[in-house]
Amino acid sequence: MSAYEALDSGSGVAEFLKYPKETVAASLPLRRDDGRITMLKAWRCRYSDLLGPTKGGIRFHQAVNADEVQTLAFWMTMKCALAGLPFGGGKGGVQVDTSQLSRTEKERLARLYVSQFENVIGPRRDIPAPDVATGAAEMAWMMDEYSRLQGRLMPATFTGKPIALGGLVGRTEATGEGAFMIFEYFARQLNLTKDDTLAVQGFGNAARFFALAATDAGYRITAISDSSGMISHEEGLDIKAICNVKDKGGSVADTDQKNVQKAVGQDILKHPATVFVPAALGGVVNAGNAKNIPCKVIFEIANGPVKPEADAILESQDIHVIPDILANAGGVIASYIEWTGNLRGEQHDRDQVSYILRDHLIGAAKRTSEMVSDAKGDIRKAVYMAAIKRLSQSYSVLYEI
Ligand code: GLU
Repeated sequence: MSAYEALDSGSGVAEFLKYPKETVAASLPLRRDDGRITMLKAWRCRYSDLLGPTKGGIRFHQAVNADEVQTLAFWMTMKCALAGLPFGGGKGGVQVDTSQLSRTEKERLARLYVSQFENVIGPRRDIPAPDVATGAAEMAWMMDEYSRLQGRLMPATFTGKPIALGGLVGRTEATGEGAFMIFEYFARQLNLTKDDTLAVQGFGNAARFFALAATDAGYRITAISDSSGMISHEEGLDIKAICNVKDKGGSVADTDQKNVQKAVGQDILKHPATVFVPAALGGVVNAGNAKNIPCKVIFEIANGPVKPEADAILESQDIHVIPDILANAGGVIASYIEWTGNLRGEQHDRDQVSYILRDHLIGAAKRTSEMVSDAKGDIRKAVYMAAIKRLSQSYSVLYEI
């Protein structure tokens, strides 16, 4: 079931949510280190503010376009509603390959983005965060630029900031650790045991902390891939060793664990493991490869890794999909904790963060479980039904006569 199919329920809110509230497009003249100007396409979409200010990351990637930004902003709307947060959904993007930018060029781009979209964002209007190829450094530059333009410190306008600038202890770990909380919830329901194995596609921030939490709990991760290739080991990969290699700027294939097999990155989709965990980019499972993935469960940490046309194929093979808007909601829940702290001038410690994170995630998982039988066992449908239920409560107060 695709995101938009979720809206075919005929209700008023479903019609209302078929279109974004606003999408602003711009061309950013980025001054390169050699003095030349490179023009970059950029967007910020505020999909819906039915439940609160719009919330969602800014992604820097060469394939970003207006459609993708709007779809991601729609998913953020659903994710925040499902997680019980007082946020609507938004997303931003710049069409750029960051591997071609120096650190100073990245800083200029972050500041340029904010000066361009100054009137779109704001602590009670639209609150960006990190996404693909953006992190704490970009949020620091963006917050600094916005504060400079506004003439006062505005930390609550961005989340995912460095801790020294009003960031949250545990924000970096939250998406991956939160994903593991959801994994454990469904592991019980799907009768998974520690003998079941995992294959993880991607080793970015979310994948890393998920992998650390899963192996700490005793699960075996038998394959991991990144943009340079895949490694596998039947008895389980040494995740801490991979983290060390990555921290030194290497790729997973550089890990020196003994008897590790190497292959091309795409082979992760053929690796036999009970659970396939796509944790990189969207659209990796499609109609062409869905019938050959040798797993029983797909656990979506990336946003949109399964294309809509692949969902029915997976269902026909009894492969359960734990959907992205539930599995990766830990990131935006931590953002919510950071935002409330910034507005009140208060700080949270690690225990408070874990408690609030778990509370919201398990609440979202339970709301999903309540919908599963109405959704005829389709967990993706169930998460959308739970999200739309909450959105329809606001919609009916505001728009239904
Ligand atoms: N980019 C993350 C996501 O897709 C986090 C968004 C946020 O914290 O606002 O959920």
